[in-house]
Amino acid sequence: MVQLTSNSIHWSNVGNRAKSTKQNSTEVNGPGLSSGLPLEFQNRLAEMLDDSTLAAVVASFDVEKNTPFRINTLLATPQEVVADLRQEGMEPHAVDWCDHAFWVPPDSRDRLTRSTVAMNSKIYVQGLSSVLATLILDPQPGEWNLDLAAAPGGKSSHIVARMQNQGKLSVVEPVRKRMFRLADNLKRLGSQISRTYLMDGRKVGQKVPDRFDRVMLDAPCSSEARMRTSDPKTTQFWSLRKIREQSRKQLGLIESAFQSLKPGGTLLYCTCSFAPEENEAIVSALLDRHEGAAVLLEPDLPIENWQPGLSSYGEMEFHETIGRCRRILPNSLFDAFFMAKILKP
Ligand code: SAM
Repeated sequence: MVQLTSNSIHWSNVGNRAKSTKQNSTEVNGPGLSSGLPLEFQNRLAEMLDDSTLAAVVASFDVEKNTPFRINTLLATPQEVVADLRQEGMEPHAVDWCDHAFWVPPDSRDRLTRSTVAMNSKIYVQGLSSVLATLILDPQPGEWNLDLAAAPGGKSSHIVARMQNQGKLSVVEPVRKRMFRLADNLKRLGSQISRTYLMDGRKVGQKVPDRFDRVMLDAPCSSEARMRTSDPKTTQFWSLRKIREQSRKQLGLIESAFQSLKPGGTLLYCTCSFAPEENEAIVSALLDRHEGAAVLLEPDLPIENWQPGLSSYGEMEFHETIGRCRRILPNSLFDAFFMAKILKP
């Protein structure tokens, strides 16, 4: 089990490894490794993935991605948007597991983001892992739901659309500038049921315990999935220290999110990081702390590019049910993502 000391994980394993390796080195010798990614990051991936998966994952940081987008069903139908895009010379590809998600190839990205439907807020450019996260949370009309780390509002606006603008959505963001952008985005996208709060998500559980039907916690993270070998700005700040800092915050956030759930409510915890310290360790800590009162559910994903949560990593051993978590593996359509669906019985 993960050991907790005053709300934090034991980092001895991670710390030792960090000491023995030059963290942001790009000197790479091994097969399947990339010179554009931090070496220590790739070593860590090698501990999590088998050889062929590792090669595909490392290569995915090099490829130019397709551009997925979601129809904003509050303002338009998929048929209407597809017809408009065709008129502007684009051919959107359907996503077979979601009737309101599509994608265009990289050379259409600029045209898509400047299209009339984009200007009219009828689409939202959003990664398919994020689209899937909201579908797995499965918000329903009439519920009172919470998005605990919400800016810029991609998932919040999808949640509102799934709720068909019926019920209530509370959205929380502690960074003032981001909170204003979030509020603007929700208004522009047609939300009538969201209320935005400028606050630290770690305080919400104490303030409003047992309140919400569903909680989305798309936690602030080290954003490893966002790295691109073509853009050094995305890789040069990667560090074990950042992972540690984020995971301390994530422990506080997941506890608050769980506390704010009604009995019978569900929480979706997700990150766009590979790091087990930000994923399995955080979920495991919650399950250990609330043994029997927090149950990890097993989402049925409509895709094949995922693997179950790791049972251990380095010296850390995770909760016996942790395999029910899902780590989405990146490819030309998906960014890497981790999700855990938790029930408060
Ligand atoms: N869910 C968003 C979306 O789909 O558009 C993206 C969320 S982003 C991964 C994480 C957000 O958490 C950032 O906007 C960040 O400012 C915010 N954040 C950072 N610390 C936080 C805290 N203590 N409580 C709540 N949110 C926090």
